[in-house]
Amino acid sequence: MTTPATPPATTATANVEPKPDPKPDPKIAMGWLHTAKFLTTAPELKHLPRLDVPEIAFVGRSNAGKSTCINTLTQQHRLAYASKTPGRTQSINLFTLGKQGVTDAVLTDLPGYGYAAVPKEAKLRWQQVMGNYLQTRDNLKAVVLMCDPRRGMTELDEILLDVIRPRVEDGLKFLILLTKSDKLNKTEGAKALQIAKLNAGGGDVMLFSALKKQGVEAVAQHLWDWTHAEAKKGAETTSNDAK
Ligand code: GDP
Repeated sequence: MTTPATPPATTATANVEPKPDPKPDPKIAMGWLHTAKFLTTAPELKHLPRLDVPEIAFVGRSNAGKSTCINTLTQQHRLAYASKTPGRTQSINLFTLGKQGVTDAVLTDLPGYGYAAVPKEAKLRWQQVMGNYLQTRDNLKAVVLMCDPRRGMTELDEILLDVIRPRVEDGLKFLILLTKSDKLNKTEGAKALQIAKLNAGGGDVMLFSALKKQGVEAVAQHLWDWTHAEAKKGAETTSNDAK
């Protein structure tokens, strides 16, 4: 394997206004996602560790393709199975991300909802756990909603959108992933995108296929940008403060 060449460090001149960094190569974002490691599992928000790194929550109806998506993005085929092991399916599962062992973001796998066989109390409990997490998790920076476009948005997806809407208005990032897009032809895909955009209320919508790897790099790039833009802003503020 060849090591990518390091760009020369001296191309910028001292008198030129600093330009925004070019968008990172999706390979950088992908490599970063591949560092995912299981951190912890908890039945509800109050049991989760408080973290000061940005967190991205993955949510969706059960069977929407959430575990497959997480496993594909992180290229660890057993990672999100951690969330499917008995005792963890109704829990919040956290995975750390970060190179050289330094955690700079966290992925959260929230329990899949809407599974018909789940008793009513469990469904209500889910809504409470999920609602509480989405409304009050301080370091939550983004939500990725997985939706199987052949089923469309369900009532529980709509409830979730209502729950997060105030935070989206306050800057929470939001992405709808239309999963299993390999099962749609071009026209169906375009139509599904159009419909989902109506529901996204300012968030992004993308087609995603773990099978065909459609959207993998683009999603990785979004996750990277969301979590690292914040760090960059912080660094800029600190350097401005120092002036
Ligand atoms: P979860 O319950 O949301 O975690 O869903 P899973 O990741 O377990 O996926 C549910 C089913 O959809 C499984 O049978 C997967 O193999 C299938 N699936 C997931 N992603 C894809 C995809 O991109 N394409 C196709 N064709 N099937 C998929």
